[in-house]
Amino acid sequence: MWRVLRPDAVAVLRDERARRSLGRYFAVMEDKLPARFQVCKQVEVDVDLSAGDDELWRAHERGLRELRRLLGRVDEGKVSLPERERPRTSLLDLKVELARRILRSCHFCERRCGVDRTAGERGVCGVGERSRIASEFIHMGEEPELVPSYTIFFNGCTFKCCFCQNWDISQYPAEGVEVSPQTLARLVEGQRRDGARNVNWVGGSPTPNLHTILEALNLCEANIPSVWNSNFYMSLEAMKLLSGTQDIYLTDFKYGDDRCALKYSKVQNYFEVVARNHRLAFADSELIIRHLVMPNHLECCTRAVLEWIAENLGPMVRVNLMDQYRPEYRAHEFPELNRRLTSDEFNRAIEMARDAGLENVIT
Ligand code: SF4
Repeated sequence: MWRVLRPDAVAVLRDERARRSLGRYFAVMEDKLPARFQVCKQVEVDVDLSAGDDELWRAHERGLRELRRLLGRVDEGKVSLPERERPRTSLLDLKVELARRILRSCHFCERRCGVDRTAGERGVCGVGERSRIASEFIHMGEEPELVPSYTIFFNGCTFKCCFCQNWDISQYPAEGVEVSPQTLARLVEGQRRDGARNVNWVGGSPTPNLHTILEALNLCEANIPSVWNSNFYMSLEAMKLLSGTQDIYLTDFKYGDDRCALKYSKVQNYFEVVARNHRLAFADSELIIRHLVMPNHLECCTRAVLEWIAENLGPMVRVNLMDQYRPEYRAHEFPELNRRLTSDEFNRAIEMARDAGLENVIT
């Protein structure tokens, strides 16, 4: 049925530019290579998980180096994962432990609230120790290479965007239903059997739920690409924990100017953090970058973001230039955002992408 609804999701399998920028993702999707988190489970770390934080992080660094070596050998066909025994303590076990420790003084994102979520404290996102989801379903509205995408919407978000289209999910962290990593793992396995191309962690934001997601991946036996779909305001520590577990970073690069980020999403130091995380993600795995074009923000945001991408990540990185902005939630409080985008504005955004030299743009 999805082939009828989204013929572009079939056509993209023959799209040379998509394959060039997302080659490993396609191979995992087609079951020709193991997902990164499955490889991560096969990397042994020689450390006692009750050791101090510094020792665990050092072991994590060593584990990541070993993971890169193993990934190279797996991708070259020199090593087959099913033939390997699962180690006593894996790199993914270690990531789960480190994520649980971060929860006690939360710094999953660069707000760095420092609250102990295991003791019932809440930070800016309002998400507690246990994750809650608003819904999970096969999403047919994502980029063609992603659909059908098994998408999990977590309640709560690290941002406060005044135009959020999912505000009823992102700004209500106590709504939804509590979900365990065990349940998520079983759901993901079932959806992969039914033909999902990937599992897509979103919200709200997946970031406050990193501990749950890593544990779910550790329990998941299916070979399925994992897609980290977020606003990209993760802390450096969260980026390290994500490293080696995600097959696609599906990013949201909104603002080219920190004043816009502060005004509309109530977030500080946006550009430096999000640009840093894009660099790290690009070095780690494959990317699809979303940029939502907003009315009256073409010069300060669209141009600045597209030029940065071209200069820092190159012309072939996959960029989805999005025209679907609509003034939702509290956008009416900001007259400059209180309308839809005009076709003239979107055409200018396309020209900006072309001028920047980007060659792999979805519109
Ligand atoms: S994830 Fe939530 S509690 Fe943790 S640092 Fe970010 S906003 Fe604060």
